[in-house]
Amino acid sequence: MEDGRGFARRHVTPEHCSRLPSMHLSGSAHINPAGELVIGGLPAPELAERFGTPLFVYDEALIREQCRRFHRALQKTGLDHQVSYASKAFLCRALARLMAEEGLGLDVVSGGELYTALAAGFDPAHIHLHGNNKLDSELRRALAAGVGCYVVDSLDEVARLNTLAGELGTRARCLLRVTPGVEAHTHDFIQTGAADSKFGLNLASGQASEALRAMLQAEWLDVLGVHFHIGSQIFGTEGTRAALARVLAWLAGEREHSGFAARVLNIGGGFGIRYTGADQPQPLEDLLAEVAAALRAGAAEHRLPLPQLWLEPGRSIVGEAGWTLYTVGTVKQIPGVRNYVSVDGGMSDHLRTALYGADYEVALANRMHGAPQGTYTVVGKLCESGDVVARDKPLPEPRHGDLLAVSCTGAYHYAMSSRYNAMLRPAVVFVKDGEAREVVRRETYDDLLRGQLD
Ligand SMILES: *Cc1c(COP(=O)(O)O)cnc(C)c1O
Repeated sequence: MEDGRGFARRHVTPEHCSRLPSMHLSGSAHINPAGELVIGGLPAPELAERFGTPLFVYDEALIREQCRRFHRALQKTGLDHQVSYASKAFLCRALARLMAEEGLGLDVVSGGELYTALAAGFDPAHIHLHGNNKLDSELRRALAAGVGCYVVDSLDEVARLNTLAGELGTRARCLLRVTPGVEAHTHDFIQTGAADSKFGLNLASGQASEALRAMLQAEWLDVLGVHFHIGSQIFGTEGTRAALARVLAWLAGEREHSGFAARVLNIGGGFGIRYTGADQPQPLEDLLAEVAAALRAGAAEHRLPLPQLWLEPGRSIVGEAGWTLYTVGTVKQIPGVRNYVSVDGGMSDHLRTALYGADYEVALANRMHGAPQGTYTVVGKLCESGDVVARDKPLPEPRHGDLLAVSCTGAYHYAMSSRYNAMLRPAVVFVKDGEAREVVRRETYDDLLRGQLD
């Protein structure tokens, strides 16, 4: 299959060929004649041999293609626009540089993410600082570095940011994060009107108005516009359009009150991706066309100047480009109950299944042509029964030493990794055109002791 955007989408199901596993191969991934999974031109067994397992493998061309798709789709809307990558999904220096090459900004939410971005040489003017509790130390560093945009998230931050900017004699460009009373969850959304969120300031309660007015008065703040982010892994645009309608109506009221006209409307990220066949994302191009039309119509209705449309995708940039490779260890068949296959990582590098019950597709990367011989639950080696990678998956009978691939692990995997059970964080490699580049090395036992003083 071909999705019409330059990447072949091969969705191999047992109906197509009974000898092939049910795994969607995104981007450059394919199966070679030896029955091995190939990513970025390199067979998975070769990558495992060279870099060890567990291993995160990123299809660099697919990351770049996603960045370009956002740009192209926004270009088509005719709106002034900007795309910032939400670096919490996955950040290392190499990725920050890749984002700079593709013309994306970078959202950071902590001093550590800011430090990483700056260490990569990322232009601070294109860094946006987010967070519901920005520390004074973080604000100071950001101001000193010349961070280009602050997404103000509380009333107290208005005063603190203004004071700190004044101390440094630098103006802070900012957006106000509002909660429009719309919460989106994958396929549907709810209008809450509730102020119960640790993020942003509520439109309905009047707190957003209070904050905006304070920001407009603040000597050292330059208010560009407003921001909202209503959820993650969202399909469709209903929630976003409902939020847009509320925010534009509110902006019309604020304009009447103070004459303020937002130059920027940042609608956050949250674009859903395909983890398994249960997820059917609409093409990005269609989603952005719908959002742009709603923005134009809403702005016209309220006689507001058309703001720039800013986006902050995270998952949809890196999610489908990332793979995890594990080595199969113990296989345990409990008659009449379940088959367990244990791998050499687990919830220390794959938390989303334990955390949200997230579902993934798995395959034996060294035997992609093997016919499924049963269902297997893939578990890690950590001391938690919840340490599950994927439940009840069809696989050829796994053997000790097989290579197990999990697709779609590019977002919120390495970023959420931990050292529970003193596990070592895996290495990360970028692959492209048959070349592999190790961008983060595997941790060593020495890394575990680093920082221990006694
Ligand atoms: C997490 C987050 C994003 C990115 O969300 P994705 O689902 O990864 O696209 C963007 N903006 C804000 C404010 C966020 O908190």
